[in-house]
Amino acid sequence: MTESNDAQKKVSVIVDRYDYPSQFDCNLDRIVDQIRHALLDGEYVLSKQVARFEASFAKFVGVKHALGVNSGTDALILALMACGVGRDAEVIIPANTFYATAAAVCFVGARPVLVDPDPKSFLMTAASVRAAISENTRAIIPVHLYGKVCQMSELRAIADDINAVLIEDSAQAHGGVSPDGEPAGTIGDISCFSFHPSKNLAAAGDAGAVCTSSDAIAEKVRWQRALGQRGPNVHDVLGINSKLDAIQAIILDAKLPRLAAWNVERANIAKSYREALADLPVSFQKADDNERHVYHLFQIRTRHRDELFNHLTSNGIDAVIRYPDPIHLQEAFAMLGYVRGDFPVAEDLARELLALPIRPGLTAKSVEHVVRVMNNFSGY
Ligand SMILES: *Cc1c(COP(=O)(O)O)cnc(C)c1O
Repeated sequence: MTESNDAQKKVSVIVDRYDYPSQFDCNLDRIVDQIRHALLDGEYVLSKQVARFEASFAKFVGVKHALGVNSGTDALILALMACGVGRDAEVIIPANTFYATAAAVCFVGARPVLVDPDPKSFLMTAASVRAAISENTRAIIPVHLYGKVCQMSELRAIADDINAVLIEDSAQAHGGVSPDGEPAGTIGDISCFSFHPSKNLAAAGDAGAVCTSSDAIAEKVRWQRALGQRGPNVHDVLGINSKLDAIQAIILDAKLPRLAAWNVERANIAKSYREALADLPVSFQKADDNERHVYHLFQIRTRHRDELFNHLTSNGIDAVIRYPDPIHLQEAFAMLGYVRGDFPVAEDLARELLALPIRPGLTAKSVEHVVRVMNNFSGY
């Protein structure tokens, strides 16, 4: 299957997956003004704009500290470094996550230990984590996939039991809340966010944040994102160079007040899809009472995924497949020694999931078109 088959080329896209410019529809002039000031100020590195965004984002998440970094991937690397997770450590992660979760673990020299997700929620379960614990387990990284926040209390208890760090990969879940009322990023010792343009809160390029309520961890990340410098020319620890830029901080700070409303828009679109597609032989990520799913992606599940994907794209719908290969079947992680069949749920999800367009500003007409094309598919 390719993303650009012949049928697709003949049809222009009618329902776009992204519309980044529309995120500036009400405040572009103000943002450009602030950027102009920042450029002429000449203060680009960890400037007052970065500090301001860090304070606003920490408040939004509900933690004491947010530290701006270059990307969500760096946020994960810094989280692991700050907690001393390195060589010989094992880190439990879901097999059905984005590449970056696993890569970050490898970059600090630790070993990702994969677990199969729950087939209904698509998320990491406490039972699977318990079964994967060894004497070398130093960290557990639940991933709030597609914007649905994992139930954290049992994972918290396991981490405390075995004295491991709990790191939330919240790259897809800014503003999400678990069915147990736990806001994304507040239960783990550290939480990692991405502001990649595709994410619910988006910079104009790469950016990320590390969140924590621990003063000690925050202090370490503060040094380790800046080449380990505790003061001028004082390098006490090994650090990387990964600091949020002033320009991205300005953009993020301007968008943050709109994030909650954007998340509501996403949830409303998801509700429309769920209702309108309820009679089709497809299934959805499990919805729970009392949760706030922020729908980074709206996933549908079908055995006829590839045919349906072609049908959608050839009818102008910018659907996407995330992620067609689970971690253990990606070449980059061959050294982990896993084989096909090791994580059957993750493998099924990789084969059967398809994401429909969902974003703030997607019109009712667009949703209707998607529903119509979904109904027209004869291959279920
Ligand atoms: C996007 C993403 C990351 C990485 O974030 P970047 O900012 O792209 O480096 C990590 N984990 C998950 C689950 C993601 O979706």
